[in-house]
Amino acid sequence: MKLDATDLRYVTGEEFRVLTAVEMGSKNHEVVPTSLITQISGLRNGGVNKIIGSLAKRSLVAKVQNSKYDGYRLTYGGYDFLAMRALSKRDSMYSVGNQIGVGKESDIYIVADNEGKEMVLKLHRLGRISFRTIKQNRDYLGKRKSASWMYMSRLAAQKEWAFMKVLYENGFPVPKPIDQARHCILMEFCDAYPLRQIADIPSPGKLYSSLMDIIVRFARAGLIHGDFNEFNILIQRETGEPVVIDFPQMVSTSHENAEWYFNRDVECIKTFFRRRFRYESALYPKFRRVLANEEGGEDFRLDVVVAASGFSRKDMKVLEEYMDEVQEAEPEHLSEDSSDEDDSEDNSEEGEDNVAGELSPCIPLKEEISEINPPPSPTVSDEE
Ligand code: ADP
Ligand code: MG
Repeated sequence: MKLDATDLRYVTGEEFRVLTAVEMGSKNHEVVPTSLITQISGLRNGGVNKIIGSLAKRSLVAKVQNSKYDGYRLTYGGYDFLAMRALSKRDSMYSVGNQIGVGKESDIYIVADNEGKEMVLKLHRLGRISFRTIKQNRDYLGKRKSASWMYMSRLAAQKEWAFMKVLYENGFPVPKPIDQARHCILMEFCDAYPLRQIADIPSPGKLYSSLMDIIVRFARAGLIHGDFNEFNILIQRETGEPVVIDFPQMVSTSHENAEWYFNRDVECIKTFFRRRFRYESALYPKFRRVLANEEGGEDFRLDVVVAASGFSRKDMKVLEEYMDEVQEAEPEHLSEDSSDEDDSEDNSEEGEDNVAGELSPCIPLKEEISEINPPPSPTVSDEE
């Protein structure tokens, strides 16, 4: 999905109010009835109809004809707008530039603050794949029947934010986290290439051991990355040092399948180095030995720190189950990102990553945003 910053600048205060009403209404309604939107927004009926029409035309909401009633749902575009507006209000970001990545479950943009400093905005897009399959089997969502892509994407962003912060604060090589809102994370832009794009390096052995060391450091701090592969390891242009990204699937070393996740991370690196750099080593970390040596390592448990940071166990569980289901439902999508496939032929030009060429200047969001009204207070409670 393309972010259109030009369009975002022309959202009026009333339009914003209606958009927020749709978001609030979707907490209990998959399709928010127009009458409820009117009530929550506190605007006149006729006014709301006109505004919602204009929001729909710009794809910030979508009209849904339901068997029982007609109404609207928030689109990715609408949710993106609300998140970016929040970031912009807090002066965390000012303008939007090019898309630099499109993953299975995220879009990545270059954005800038008001001094022109470039950052990376990651928008989580859970539910883009196979949401229908997921929906049929959603017992784990409990009472939250309308748990949607919106809810899951927000959980993924909150989890990634919690981990990135804790890792950064404890000196792990991860991008500096800057801010988080709804399904978005704002982080430092790394001048780096994904390892996947690197054809040759002077000393593969050195990089191999740094990467294995990172896996070990993670584990000694109670964590497993869970998707430690050539897409999620960036190599800094200036120093050649690795930076690790992409944390929504991180698990604790006390997870029941921890050893399996750990071995898979190690195996990804071994396989990639063998195929890409023809480098093999008899040395690689073993889960039990690493944990047995824990005393020699970090004296903190980051899994515990994260659990205390507000991202609850329950949230973690919901997200894990969702991710497991996506894996089961659509295994073919995952092979794209896995190093199990034979990619010895690969010349990294499939275009699934890094769509940007030249960066064009970022487009400010600001003008319109400064004149937006404060969010309306809800005038309706949550009855069906
Ligand atoms: P996904 O969950 O979709 O895999 P990632 O967080 O792995 O998303 O990011 C996808 C791509 O975006 C990365 O492979 C990388 O090319 C680029 N990217 C992500 N974060 C940064 C960053 N902080 N600096 C530079 N590039 C980044
Ligand atoms: Mg990734």
